[in-house]
Amino acid sequence: MLENIDKTYVLNTYARNYVNFKKGINATLFDENNNDYIDFTSGIGVVSVGHGNQRVADAIYDQVKNITHISNLYLIEPQALLAQKLQEQSGYDVAMFFANSGAEANEGAIKIARKYGETKFNNKKYKVITLAHSFHGRTITTVKATGQEKMHTPNFAPYPEGFSYDLYLKDIYTSVDDQTVAVMIELVQGEGGVQPLDKEEVQKLAKFLKEKEILLIIDEVQTGCYRTGEFLASNLYDIQPDIITLAKGVGGGVPMGVVMTTLKDIFVPGDHGSTFGGNYLVTRAALEVVSILDEYKTSGALDEAIIYFGNKLNDLYEQNTHLFTKEVGLGLMRGLRVKDEETLGKIIKASFEEKVLVLKAGKNTMRLLPPLTISKEEIDEGFKRLSNALKTI
Ligand SMILES: *Cc1c(COP(=O)(O)O)cnc(C)c1O
Repeated sequence: MLENIDKTYVLNTYARNYVNFKKGINATLFDENNNDYIDFTSGIGVVSVGHGNQRVADAIYDQVKNITHISNLYLIEPQALLAQKLQEQSGYDVAMFFANSGAEANEGAIKIARKYGETKFNNKKYKVITLAHSFHGRTITTVKATGQEKMHTPNFAPYPEGFSYDLYLKDIYTSVDDQTVAVMIELVQGEGGVQPLDKEEVQKLAKFLKEKEILLIIDEVQTGCYRTGEFLASNLYDIQPDIITLAKGVGGGVPMGVVMTTLKDIFVPGDHGSTFGGNYLVTRAALEVVSILDEYKTSGALDEAIIYFGNKLNDLYEQNTHLFTKEVGLGLMRGLRVKDEETLGKIIKASFEEKVLVLKAGKNTMRLLPPLTISKEEIDEGFKRLSNALKTI
């Protein structure tokens, strides 16, 4: 049985649900018995253009029947074209590096900041400040960059030095010192509970950091690539970050991390690299994903989906104020705060039984990250199932 094979041969790091999905069409998944599920998770914000996307599948097939990988020692046409496209979409004067995941993109961002701090000032600057409820990844460095104390278990110690955490943006003004090189934040904290930061506070902090010559790193691994309705949440917040990282949605399911920066002269050959990063397969796929989303935004379809989804979510919230305390989030990165953690567990279980997939974030947030291409029919059906699930609580 597959479940036993998985349990025998795959390390036990995830609390897995043993459903076996065989097929996907946009925001609908089918298991081995052909039961259909509405997917409000998109593989944790990854499958931005939906499951089984024909255009992405065609682009990948067209690419891999020719070249899948040749290494970064040679020009990679779709990598260059993707970089150009991402720069244009961002509206910022940036160049970029391609990695394979969000954590790796953040590692790259920290390396750029550290080298900047080492080479551009008379005194060494290396400290990075992040927020207490942040999430920045699972490598030894990014787990330490992550503010949540429970992640800094002694099991993996010692960690790299130079990271500290503030609960609120307003605390950062007093915790910077002359060794602080960067502040790294998510504009909408994802894993921390779908919590958007206040726009004016972010703008004020960005201005302060610029004056102090401290870099602003925006972790857009979850918020990037139209998740909040604009290409970047940084666009929505109208700020000019020094470094931005992307991952989850940019590849539509192929593994990709991106570090974009205005500091184009910090890295020189030998400073950083990746065997797989930005290879033909992933960049050709991402080029198609970004084109689809760009068309979707331009046609007005994305904004329509966001409004439609938001109205349905609001109805669900209004009808269930005995379970929920607050609506949170932006764009198609949404959540409902549940009155307690135990009830949230029950809601996620009941939703699965009604065949609609939802996520947990933080302690008590039900998180919804549907594919950005989700149809109105799928939104209607998903909320109908969610509403039925809540009746059983
Ligand atoms: C998911 C996530 C990461 C980590 O990305 P991986 O691809 O799992 O390494 C980092 N930062 C944020 C904001 C994320 O949501």
